[in-house]
Amino acid sequence: MSERVLALLNGGLADPDAPLLPADDLGVLRGDGVFETVLVVDGVALELTAHLARLARSAAMLEFDVPDLRAWQGCAQTAIDAWDGGREMVLKLILTRGSQFGGAVTGYAMGTPVSPTVLAQRRDGVAAVTLTRGTVPDVAGRAPWLLLGAKTLSYAVNMAALRHAAQLGAQDVVFTATDGSVLEGATSTVVIAQGSTLRTPPTDLGILPGTTQAALFRAAGPAGWHTRVEPLQVADLLAADGVWLCSSVRLITRVHTLNGHPLPDTGRTAALRGLLPLPAARGDRVARQ
Ligand code: PLP
Repeated sequence: MSERVLALLNGGLADPDAPLLPADDLGVLRGDGVFETVLVVDGVALELTAHLARLARSAAMLEFDVPDLRAWQGCAQTAIDAWDGGREMVLKLILTRGSQFGGAVTGYAMGTPVSPTVLAQRRDGVAAVTLTRGTVPDVAGRAPWLLLGAKTLSYAVNMAALRHAAQLGAQDVVFTATDGSVLEGATSTVVIAQGSTLRTPPTDLGILPGTTQAALFRAAGPAGWHTRVEPLQVADLLAADGVWLCSSVRLITRVHTLNGHPLPDTGRTAALRGLLPLPAARGDRVARQ
C-alpha cells in the first residue's frame, strides 16, 4: 500500500521508484505515445469507459495496434487496489511505441495524489490568458499528421504555454486559432454559460474531446440547461455569465479573470460540479474541494 503506485499493462505491480523504461523508448525519445489521466475517487475510476475509448482513438491516430482495453481495465484496477493514499488518486494510463528497435509497445498505469496546486485551483479558480496555437480552424481534418485532438505524450508545447501564462501572472491558458476562435485550455476543455445555456467549442477545430465536458453536458440537459457545441470567440468568454476549464482532475474550475478582465461570479460552479457523476455518498466533499 502506497501513495504512489505503478502497475504494468502486462500484469502486476512494479516499484514506482525504480527505473521502468529503456533509454531508447520512443515515448521518451519522441513523445511518441498516448495517455489518459483519470480521476479515481473512493476506488472508482470515473468515466473509465470514455477514457479508454479516447485512448483507443488517440492510439488509432498514431497508427498503433488497437489497445487491449480489457488489459487496460485490469492494469487500472491493479493500481487502484494497491492505492492507500487517500480518497482521490490521479491515475495516468501511458502507452508508448516502445523501443526504437521494434518490439512491443510499453504500457503502464501510474497513480499519484492530487497535487496541492490542483486542489487550490478547484477551490479558488484561475486567472487565464488567451494565447494563439497558430493553427487555422479547419486544419485538423486537412492535416491529420499534426495529431490535433489526439492525447499524445507530446505536451511540451502545452507546458510551455502554461509557463508563458505564469510570466503574465495567470495560472492557465485558453488557446485560440488564427481567426480568434476559442480552442481549449492547456489541459482542459472550455465551457461557458450564457443564461441557462452551456456552450463549448466543437472538436473539429482540432481539440481533444473532453470526458468531463461530455459528462457535464450529459447531465446538464435533464437538470434544465440547454447545451450547445459551437464555435466561440474570445468576446463570448468576456461577455459570458461564467467561464470554466473542465478536466478530469480539476473537475470544473472557474476562470475568474481573463486577459486581466475580472469575469462575473454567478455562483454556478458548485451547481455544475454537482452534475458530475462523482461517487454519491461523499461526492459533495470531493466536488467542493
Ligand atoms: N483538452 C486538453 C488539451 C487536455 O489535456 C485535457 C485533459 O487533460 C482536456 C481537454 C480535458 O479532458 P478530460 O475532461 O477528459 O480530462
